[in-house]
Amino acid sequence: MAEVPTPLSDLRLRGVRCTAVEVPLRYVLGTSAATVKAAPLLLVDVLTEQGVTGRSYVFCYRRSGAKPIASIVEDAAEVVHGERIAPVAMAAKLQRRFALIGVTGIVRMALSAFDMALWDAMAVAAGVPLATLLGAAPRPVQAYNSCGLGLMAPQAAADEAELLLEGGMRAVKLRLGYPTLAGDLAVTRAVRARLPDTVQLMVDYNQALSRAEALERGRALQSEGVSWLEEPIRHDDLEGNAQLARDLHLPVQIGENFDGPKDLLRALQAQACDLVMPDVARIGGVTGWMQAAGVAEAHGIPMSSHLMPEVSAHLLAATPTCHWLEYVDWTEAIAAEPVKIVDGCWPLGDKPGTGLAWDPKAIERYRLS
Ligand SMILES: [Mg+2]
Repeated sequence: MAEVPTPLSDLRLRGVRCTAVEVPLRYVLGTSAATVKAAPLLLVDVLTEQGVTGRSYVFCYRRSGAKPIASIVEDAAEVVHGERIAPVAMAAKLQRRFALIGVTGIVRMALSAFDMALWDAMAVAAGVPLATLLGAAPRPVQAYNSCGLGLMAPQAAADEAELLLEGGMRAVKLRLGYPTLAGDLAVTRAVRARLPDTVQLMVDYNQALSRAEALERGRALQSEGVSWLEEPIRHDDLEGNAQLARDLHLPVQIGENFDGPKDLLRALQAQACDLVMPDVARIGGVTGWMQAAGVAEAHGIPMSSHLMPEVSAHLLAATPTCHWLEYVDWTEAIAAEPVKIVDGCWPLGDKPGTGLAWDPKAIERYRLS
């Protein structure tokens, strides 16, 4: 960490270092799509000639994702090696250079991870929080607890929901997608009954339903005290999502699968949702996020985040239609100083950059070979 600010005009890229780890989750997450007990993460460090290090990480979804993503990050760093650190210009150059292989999927994730680490390096060099570098005032960002609450028996879900209120959380998210509507309602009611009225409850189907099922279940959930209906159907069925958004007064939330800011634009042009929640590692890192935030603002759509709260909190502070930070504790096992939620908010402190710093012993322990 630079004690004395390094002039940004001097900051040059020396290289990158990628480390794959698999960290245990405190709360197992069983969704309609998969059961997650441990999270494979790729940690990316950007190294500069001036000795400043920029850090980021991405969730790889599958263990096998870590190596190819790392390989593309290293390739990208080679393309702009020795250049002055300028994430927007570098993103444009890399998009052109990777256009033929396709800037999507793991290529997008790799370029996003690299972009986030570049921005972190700039903020660390400047000695200011990332939010400050983006022109925002660092401030607490309201968070909902997205740990746990996977598919489980109603009473077990209610018990877990109560534990998730630690830190004064004022919202939690429940995964749905049981075989029947009755199953969804039983668990929703058990959790809702256990939570104080002041606590919001979001529900997430992880794309499990058909259009017809989504309409039926969405209608039933409208009178159950739920705040949003997340990914009820395939995320890329914009017409189906638009129909649901029209037919339901329960807000439809999508966005974690937007692949770059243009996907967000297309969804909003199709009126496919009431709310958006891009993932910083799929939307194009900090650079892509800020472009997406402008589009969301132009359409008057509230914007939340998906995973990676350490980076997303800074971005939401700089997002005109800032809505909710998705809080997960997935980096707790490897963070040098895990961030604690205070009064239901992620406290953006005054640490330079995103504040990401790893515990070297824990990294060794959870490293994937
Ligand atoms: Mg989701």
